[in-house]
Amino acid sequence: MTTILVTGGAGYIGSHAVLALKKAGYEVIVLDNLSYGHRELVEEVLQVKLIVGDTSDRALLDNIFITHNIAAVMHFAAYIAVGESVIDPAKYYHNNVTGTLTLLEAIVSASINKFIFSSTCALYGVPKFVPITEDHPQDPISPYATSKWMVERILSDFDTAYNFKSVRFRYFNAAGADPNGLLGEDHKPETHLIPLVLLTALGKRESISIFGTDYPTRDGTCIRDYIHVADLAQAHVLGLEYLLNGENSEVFNLGNGSGFSVREVIETAKQVTGKQIKIVECDRRRGDPPILVGSSDKARQVLGWHPQYPSLNEIISHAWQWHQQRHG
Ligand code: UDP
Repeated sequence: MTTILVTGGAGYIGSHAVLALKKAGYEVIVLDNLSYGHRELVEEVLQVKLIVGDTSDRALLDNIFITHNIAAVMHFAAYIAVGESVIDPAKYYHNNVTGTLTLLEAIVSASINKFIFSSTCALYGVPKFVPITEDHPQDPISPYATSKWMVERILSDFDTAYNFKSVRFRYFNAAGADPNGLLGEDHKPETHLIPLVLLTALGKRESISIFGTDYPTRDGTCIRDYIHVADLAQAHVLGLEYLLNGENSEVFNLGNGSGFSVREVIETAKQVTGKQIKIVECDRRRGDPPILVGSSDKARQVLGWHPQYPSLNEIISHAWQWHQQRHG
């Protein structure tokens, strides 16, 4: 069996990727420092081997690569909160850049050259055109986005120097939950719109804040492209197989191609849940571009990726199913 090391596999997107890898017949080992991830998710729900540790622990990494015959690495472990990264950039550069560099050096030393990287559409900055294609100019406006941009540059230099092959996925907004209710989104603290809206619908929070109502968009609130996490996970399996087939490094956007405003997300959540959701209009959150909507034509054409759950209603329904089960 082909073994894949998944860093951050105890987290939201990572755990869905582990599930997709298992379904596709891969053996998976998760490396996670559990700073935000969930041990029981890996050991009990997914039932794969968990190594608790950090991507900056070179000795641990070397030991993993000596002990296990790893064919490729999927790297999800990273800090992800845009707002926090503006306030505490050192935390983001330290973990997301330095930690990743240590991981990459260990992988190269172990003579592995296949790497799948969680990148972000945030590295495009404020879009000059939408839908955003992979060749859109890059101008990250938050330390979070800059940290991902830096790793992308490192990966491209590693390819030139060490024949190191990577698939970089630039995610738009991952949302939803496993359609069978096995996994869902459970960040602590939660900062993402859809789970916060659903926690409000469940009565776990008083209200949902809208960060900025004066953006140059159709209703003044930010527009994002929400992509189902199970579709995102499936793309990772395809990206892995692309590299295992000997293809070259590539970068792919992963999004839905249609954008929804914060108000539209809240409205859809009201319909899905049948609950009232109290709104509080607030100032803009720093680091947020007004609109991010992507073209994923390249992933569809090159990888044969076909998202199964493109509707926002379905994305929110799956998330709602999981939240009710988890917190209800
Ligand atoms: N947002 C909001 N209220 C919240 C959380 C998020 O208005 O409580 C907005 C945020 O400003 C952004 C959009 O919802 O425009 C999506 O934010 P999220 O944090 O879910 O994802 P991001 O775009 O930062 O990856």
